[in-house]
Amino acid sequence: MDVDVVIAGLGVSGSSLAYALSEKGYKINAYDPIKKYEKACGEQVSASYNSINLLKKSNSIVTMPNDISIYVNNKEVSNINFGGNTPWYIINKPNFIQYLRDSALSNGVNIIYKPWNNERGMITVDARGPFSGNLKDKILVKRYIVETEWDPNHVILDFRPNELGLYWIFPADDQGKLVNLGGGFVNLWDDEKLTKLIIEYARYNLKKVEVKNTKAAPLDVFSPYKPYSPSDNIFYVGEAAGLVLSISGEGNRPAIESSYALADAIRKHNLEDIYEIKNDYIRYSKKVANESFLSRKLFMFITKYKENFDMVNILSNIPKWFWYKYLSVSLEFNDVIKLGSDIKFILSIIKGIK
Ligand SMILES: Cc1cc2nc3c(=O)[nH]c(=O)nc-3n(C[C@H](O)[C@H](O)[C@H](O)COP(=O)(O)OP(=O)(O)OC[C@H]3O[C@@H](n4cnc5c(N)ncnc54)[C@H](O)[C@@H]3O)c2cc1C
Repeated sequence: MDVDVVIAGLGVSGSSLAYALSEKGYKINAYDPIKKYEKACGEQVSASYNSINLLKKSNSIVTMPNDISIYVNNKEVSNINFGGNTPWYIINKPNFIQYLRDSALSNGVNIIYKPWNNERGMITVDARGPFSGNLKDKILVKRYIVETEWDPNHVILDFRPNELGLYWIFPADDQGKLVNLGGGFVNLWDDEKLTKLIIEYARYNLKKVEVKNTKAAPLDVFSPYKPYSPSDNIFYVGEAAGLVLSISGEGNRPAIESSYALADAIRKHNLEDIYEIKNDYIRYSKKVANESFLSRKLFMFITKYKENFDMVNILSNIPKWFWYKYLSVSLEFNDVIKLGSDIKFILSIIKGIK
């Protein structure tokens, strides 16, 4: 095998991995059929060590909203103001990815603008995001760039537990003239119906709606964490590894963090030491793996029991500290246990039995 690393997909995870490894001089072949990354996204990235570093280096931060409102069925149930210390970044994602690809290219990565042809390296990585595997169990998510009047400091996340999905409104500039607004729901693959819902939502919540651009893409909120497949000797990063927070659809930071975890593991060992690389990769990506596991469990809980419990009432009674931890990506298993002992929250569950 004359190639050290083969990467399938140069989205968030694949480009981050190519970039991180290229600095160490590995011989890398990286495939992507699309020359300019343009996949639909809310363009939000939460703060983490590697994400902040890369966002700053690539000069791709558009704005950093401080004021995050949590809605359930169009009603505000909590508001977190981070007061100038926000962990929320809105970015220009195509520029971000272009920076990573260009830097990797100038460090010698061989970028091949074609679909991955199953080429293998000493290390082979699937970074094809939601396009890895088949699309059957994924959901359709659509985003609109809308010209309007909006506070560029403000974000709305509007959960719809009965429809198993959410709407969002994120600023898309720092002037208050553009927003990135969208939504996605389990079992709603009908583009026409989804479009109608999102436009209605936009009209209800915005003073003025002038659509500038629209795009949809699949999102995988169901697949469990899969860092490595021994049968075909392939590593997985980002969404291909099942690293999306099912409740909110957050996948950018997990994609960056899992790629850096794999890059660190690869750099630490000889390329033929697959077993050690795999173990260290799992160790280094534990935090994002735990977060996505926790988010998926909560998502599955809502899916399973939404006919038996009033999930709107339950979600509406989640205390502010929980949302704070959730939004600042510091939620842990202990917090779920702590939530289970919050009297107001317990009462909402009891009252919510149908
Ligand atoms: C509408 C929408 C809004 C979202 N909003 C947010 C948000 O605001 N914040 C957030 O954190 N997450 C958000 N997400 C999720 C986030 O976009 C993804 O989880 C993230 O992009 C995953 O990164 P990735 O590298 O794993 O995959 P991707 O970024 O999807 O990259 C996959 C790459 O693989 C390439 N590819 C496809 N097929 C092949 C092939 N056969 N061979 C080679 N390459 C291939 C694609 O061209 C693409 O470049 C959103 C998703 C959607 C759909």
